[in-house]
Amino acid sequence: MISAQKSMAALTSFSLLSNYATTGSIVTSVRASPEVSSYASSINFLTANHSRRYLCRASASHDEEAVAKAAAINADSGAPTIIDKIVSKEIPSTIVYEDDKVLAFKDINPQAPVHVLVIPKCRDGLTQLGKAEQRHGEILGQLLYAARMVAEKEGILDGFRVVINNGPSACQSVYHLHLHVLGGRQMKWPPG
Ligand code: AMP
Repeated sequence: MISAQKSMAALTSFSLLSNYATTGSIVTSVRASPEVSSYASSINFLTANHSRRYLCRASASHDEEAVAKAAAINADSGAPTIIDKIVSKEIPSTIVYEDDKVLAFKDINPQAPVHVLVIPKCRDGLTQLGKAEQRHGEILGQLLYAARMVAEKEGILDGFRVVINNGPSACQSVYHLHLHVLGGRQMKWPPG
């Protein structure tokens, strides 16, 4: 049983979460709030379904951060990633665009009606954008052009977003450079 004071603190945090969870910046600050996760189960009885969804989102965001931190440990070990298995077709994917250097396929956990990953088939040191060297200029340009091709194929040329998560602070979880092409809904700014 938690004290009345702690209940109020949890409810206050929760109410802020409910009010502002639609904006990425506030979601980010909520991610770090231990009050919310500690007392979430105690206040569940007060919540409507939509409010519970925000709590789940805060919890999922926390998991993402932990996964990203763990992934970063072996970032430059040279070990193959899930993307190598997708390129070799060992793992199936829904391909949207392909040429000799670039592959684009649907994200398995879409964050928008259109969510496609664009990758260089050969990693060549590009575990993340932060590792880019001048010699990578050509492939980086090809990736951006492929993102545009994806947007056209998916019918979102009028409005789409290209995201590259770089490093654990940006929640990068796979260390093979990839561009997220997102669209099919109104995007918000700032992102989370
Ligand atoms: P990031 O967190 O920026 O490194 O993005 C990695 C992305 O890879 C996430 O959006 C995942 O949903 C996606 N992903 C992981 N495994 C697969 C898979 N087997 N097929 C398609 N997308 C995947």
